[in-house]
Amino acid sequence: ALNVSSKNDINFYSPDLSNLIKYENLIEEEIYQALQNNKLVLFFQPQIETRNFELIGAEALVRLQKSDGTILSPMDFLEVAKKKGLMTEIDRFVLESTTKIAKELNSSKNRLKVFFNVSKSFFEDEDFLNFIEIVLDKYGIDPSCLGVELTEEIFIDDFYSAQKKINALKKMGLQIALDDFGTGFSSLSYLNKLRIDKIKIDKSFVDDLLKSESSKRLVSSIISMSHILGLEVIAEGVETEEQLSFLQSKGCYEIQGYYFSKPLPLPEFVESFC
Ligand code: C2E
Ligand code: MG
Ligand code: MG
Ligand code: MG
Repeated sequence: ALNVSSKNDINFYSPDLSNLIKYENLIEEEIYQALQNNKLVLFFQPQIETRNFELIGAEALVRLQKSDGTILSPMDFLEVAKKKGLMTEIDRFVLESTTKIAKELNSSKNRLKVFFNVSKSFFEDEDFLNFIEIVLDKYGIDPSCLGVELTEEIFIDDFYSAQKKINALKKMGLQIALDDFGTGFSSLSYLNKLRIDKIKIDKSFVDDLLKSESSKRLVSSIISMSHILGLEVIAEGVETEEQLSFLQSKGCYEIQGYYFSKPLPLPEFVESFC
């Protein structure tokens, strides 16, 4: 019958729901443990300038080492972190670790920019700018070695205050990249008002590149637009030679993706790329 009673619905769904809650509580506990015992780890994915195959930088991507030793990827725990209000704590850890590692990586001849991701909740935290300033100071790093990846969602609620924060980050000397570009709230006029250095073309567009003409046109326009606005542009999620040559033919020379390397633990990253 069409009229399934809500009572039946609850009976039917409750085992799943309670499993979900159990799962989330487990992950929450793992996150707590990881924060306390230094079990959050960063992997690094190289960013390559393809005209001379030079390493220009890396993106720091967080992983969680569970108490049983297995490694969880962000997909498996960031949603829970968000829901349980632990995202800011994770981002603070990532920011500090990234700064420390970027400093070490640049202590020899390297000139690498290391980018870290910042969630909306951390970006909006009233202590955000202050915390960054303290960390920069603590490690005495040249701030131009560090880059912040922001997503378009940070502009949705309060454009003006996001703009002010970005100006403050620029003033500190950090690079700003707009992550997952094109998947959220992109507006040309806003883009022009923000002091952003770099646009990251989202993997989903790169995935579709060789499957659809419309993706080709879209990616071409993002690249041209970046050039016109005087912004750097990088493509993420590049896996094939074909994607690479299309991007190069349109003038996008910075590439991040499995074609060159998956995100790697620091020692392997250093051994292979530095
Ligand atoms: P993102 O910032 O867009 O990072 C790129 C994601 O694409 C990474 O997934 C990376 O491993 C994956 N990727 C890169 N190249 C390829 C490729 O060629 N093929 C495929 N299939 N995948 C590729 P990851 O590490 O699982 O991170 C997922 C998302 O989690 C990130 O997307 C970012 O939004 C978030 N994230 C990761 N670390 C942090 C963090 O420290 N703080 C915050 N706030 N978010 C983070
Ligand atoms: Mg990112
Ligand atoms: Mg991205
Ligand atoms: Mg992405």
